[in-house]
Amino acid sequence: MAKFKAIVIEKSDAGQKAALADFDEKDLMDGDVTVRVEHSTLNYKDGLALTGKAPVVRRFPMIPGVDFAGTVEASSHPDWKVGDKAILNGWGTGETHLGAYAEKARVKGDWLVRLPASMSTRDAMAIGTAGYTAMLATMALQRHGLTLDRGPLVVTGAAGGVGSVAVAILAELGYQVAAVTGRPQEADYLKGLGAGEIIDRKELAGPPKPLAKERWAGGIDAVGSTTLANVLSMTRYGGAVAACGLAGGMDLPTSVAPFILRGVCLLGIDSVMAPIKLRREAWKRLETDLDRQKLAAMTTEIGLSGVLEAAPRIVAGQVRGRVVVKIG
Ligand code: NDP
Repeated sequence: MAKFKAIVIEKSDAGQKAALADFDEKDLMDGDVTVRVEHSTLNYKDGLALTGKAPVVRRFPMIPGVDFAGTVEASSHPDWKVGDKAILNGWGTGETHLGAYAEKARVKGDWLVRLPASMSTRDAMAIGTAGYTAMLATMALQRHGLTLDRGPLVVTGAAGGVGSVAVAILAELGYQVAAVTGRPQEADYLKGLGAGEIIDRKELAGPPKPLAKERWAGGIDAVGSTTLANVLSMTRYGGAVAACGLAGGMDLPTSVAPFILRGVCLLGIDSVMAPIKLRREAWKRLETDLDRQKLAAMTTEIGLSGVLEAAPRIVAGQVRGRVVVKIG
């Protein structure tokens, strides 16, 4: 059986350690589709897995990496044949199932989404799970009825991966976007993606009032904690906030006031176990509702070995936009 390059996390009494290694194909886990991985990406969760800052990895040894795009190499699944191009996001890859930072992955065909015709595998991973999650959040706000006339939308963690794609999508759809960032030096970058207003993260860092001045119709939050609590207390009557992240903390020090006095809704967004129908819709919309030039402007590229160096930087909030990982 062939060996291929992979990042492997091993655990010992001394803790966990990630390194680039040769992995034997016979040690891949069960699945009915084998994919030659062409591109992956670095998401916040990958940073947590690689640094061990949170218990993301549930099985050792583990190949981390929660998403990939590549070409089907072998399949016994009726929907997938050799040569098909596929995308995978989540389903426990990189957590409980061997993941994306490898030249090969074996997964369930039911987990895969067809690569949209106008996208390369690199485009798909420039979007990655962060961008697909930004689209799931956008779709949730639209299902809630937040049309353009309802007012501006806020995006927190704006210079990060989810935030950058969210700003670009919402601006493309015609929304006025207020981008919250702790990196004022990225103001021009965020304006280039379509943000109309830049808000200093510190404005949303103080203790939240039960109800504060109404500032936006809703928004997409990648930060959680005090930031999300402040966003909720500043949301207009009948608005909605899509919560998808915890970059600022997992707690939520809010009160029921925004919900029971302003009818504000908190919409939970999960990309990992999202049903396949929703995934297909999200990827279809990413073809049309995200400007590829803006995507290119927010994307940098690294190789497999660069992942180990980049992981602590994303956890520290130092990565701007999206990072594609070129495999092979
Ligand atoms: P990034 O690190 O790229 O972006 C996070 C951003 O949050 C940072 O760039 C920074 O933005 C801001 N931030 C970081 N630390 C803090 C802090 N202490 N206080 C306030 N703001 C902070 O990560 P991703 O975009 O990949 O992911 C963002 C979040 O979304 C993560 O928590 C991730 O786990 C979650 N996520 C959830 C998914 C789901 O299915 N629900 C799927 C994908 C991601 P700035 O510098 O602009 O302030």
